[in-house]
Amino acid sequence: SDHSLTYPKSPAEMDWAKYYPAYAVKTEDQDRQEKEKEAAVESHDQGQTSGAVVKGITQPVEIADIGCGFGGLLFALAPKFPDTLLLGMEIRMSVTEYVQEKVRALRVQNAATSGYQNVSCMRANTMKFLPNFFAKAQLSKIFLCFPDPHFKQRKHKARIVSYTLNSEYAYVLKPGGIVYTITDVEDLHRWMTGHFERHPSFERVGEEELEGDVCVEIMRSETEEGKKVERNKGLKFVACFRRIEDPPWP
Ligand code: SAM
Repeated sequence: SDHSLTYPKSPAEMDWAKYYPAYAVKTEDQDRQEKEKEAAVESHDQGQTSGAVVKGITQPVEIADIGCGFGGLLFALAPKFPDTLLLGMEIRMSVTEYVQEKVRALRVQNAATSGYQNVSCMRANTMKFLPNFFAKAQLSKIFLCFPDPHFKQRKHKARIVSYTLNSEYAYVLKPGGIVYTITDVEDLHRWMTGHFERHPSFERVGEEELEGDVCVEIMRSETEEGKKVERNKGLKFVACFRRIEDPPWP
């Protein structure tokens, strides 16, 4: 259930520094507090400083993994995009906590190289209020890897691809940005492809381009679901869609 989830009123209200502490912006307040603390330590005093919350980070999140599960894709992508911030979004609390714990451990293990500071995970229902987390044209890549298929007709409205949700993905993606999809369910593959191809903000990315894209390779081999399908010798259907420029006003 997602009743306990809270959502920021706007992307500016997000406490991003909590997710990416190495990228936190120091506000004047924070700077002053640190100086006070240092001064207090020097004078052997227990400096009493008020705890202002740091919200901002020096660069925005650019890659989102929607329904990230146990984070296999994120942990494989993070070292490939060391200068980009990646965020997994997951609705299940225990799974989100698992990924957050793994992020903490990897950051400690890789402290010498500052590895994995660029990856984080948030609990959220991505079918609600995605534009509250990300500003217009903020993201360059969105991953939809092995989404729950919701086989029955009456359950199709629970699928994370629909005309309305595609409009939200289009809003948060920058022109040229890409939605990556992969599934082992052919019916869902056709559903996703049909919905993106019909949407005026997207065009399908050609096979040749996909072959040279490291993200496609990682999506096939590093997601937990991708590995499961591999073990069972199942098929994987990949389709990617580029956010096109909005047409000029008539
Ligand atoms: N992407 C991962 C992979 O490829 O291994 C996990 C795939 S798993 C089949 C689907 C995941 O999406 C589950 O972890 C599920 O909890 C999550 N999920 C389903 N609906 C969601 C929603 N509305 N918001 C966020 N996550 C969701």
